[in-house]
Amino acid sequence: MMNEKNLESLERILNSPKKITIIPHRNPDGDAIGSTLGLYHVLKKIGHDVHVVAPNDFPHFLAWMPASEDILIYDKNRESTSKLIADSDYIFTLDFNVLLRTGDDMEKMLQKLPNPFVMIDHHQMPGNFAELTFSNPEFGSTCELLYTILDKINFTKYIDKDAATCIYTGIVTDSGSFRFPKTNANTHRVIAALIDKGIDNPQIHNNLFDNSSYNRLQLLGRALQNMVLLPELNTSYIYLTDEDLNEFKHVKGDTEGVVNYGLSIKGIDLTSFFIERKDEGIIKISLRSQGNFDVNLLARKYFEGGGHVNAAGGKSNLSLQETIERFKEIISKHKNEFYV
Ligand code: 5GP
Ligand code: MN
Repeated sequence: MMNEKNLESLERILNSPKKITIIPHRNPDGDAIGSTLGLYHVLKKIGHDVHVVAPNDFPHFLAWMPASEDILIYDKNRESTSKLIADSDYIFTLDFNVLLRTGDDMEKMLQKLPNPFVMIDHHQMPGNFAELTFSNPEFGSTCELLYTILDKINFTKYIDKDAATCIYTGIVTDSGSFRFPKTNANTHRVIAALIDKGIDNPQIHNNLFDNSSYNRLQLLGRALQNMVLLPELNTSYIYLTDEDLNEFKHVKGDTEGVVNYGLSIKGIDLTSFFIERKDEGIIKISLRSQGNFDVNLLARKYFEGGGHVNAAGGKSNLSLQETIERFKEIISKHKNEFYV
């Protein structure tokens, strides 16, 4: 879905001044914020009237990103951000492919709008809400896809150091620092081009990974202690209770990356991370796999979620204990059904 016609349409849209709003998914990660801010810098440079509206707040480990202070939060200013979105000539949605990923209320607001959407995303099974859909699950990040699209329409000349910093950040975070399987030669060519834009790449890694609070590492310690192995199923899981989160004064972003530890054990090809979110009344579930076990299918079928083959997420309305029991039962009965 990155055909010539789509690219020509995008170029035509961007070649005259427009009012544009850019929206990432709810609970945005590095790729969501990186791609929206990357595009924001580029569109501003071209001369568009552009705003980023995130459904809810973003984690503090991304708050150093250039222009992150310009991000408007829908949950905090529903009236003014809804008006801004409704007044846009185009609404760009980045790093998600169904409007529900913005949350129930925002989805309802967006669905009613007559404004045209442009989707740029790398998840499987895109919805069809957009006038222009750039969807390619072969890309490891929306940021890499965004760069590649800008390259194809000869717009990389508008990528300055700030834009490059944002795009680089999304590639780093979604590729697990260049190690997940979708990392390929194109990824590294894009990275090289971004470094040529003058970014301080070691500093970006520093900002992302060497900025933890003491409490965050203590919480990680608790999560690792809570890890359970199911060796006969090549599966592990980790959980954090509401009390764990409170004990270490959890803030948004503190649990980022924890799920990957479950996969780092020899012989494990599936892991799940359960977080008890008493405030939202749900158990948030993160799923990761190695090889061809498809956690996207598992999340879709059993946990009201989705994502990619090797990284997906969802939720459960049962208690933490019941959710874990259900997960174990599903895996022991159906694990073989999800190998693709
Ligand atoms: P994480 O486990 O880091 O929250 O998410 C991993 C991947 O799954 C991300 O690509 C994310 O977009 C996707 N994902 C996480 N939670 C959900 C969810 O509730 N619904 C859907 N459709 N995708 C999700
Ligand atoms: Mn992404």
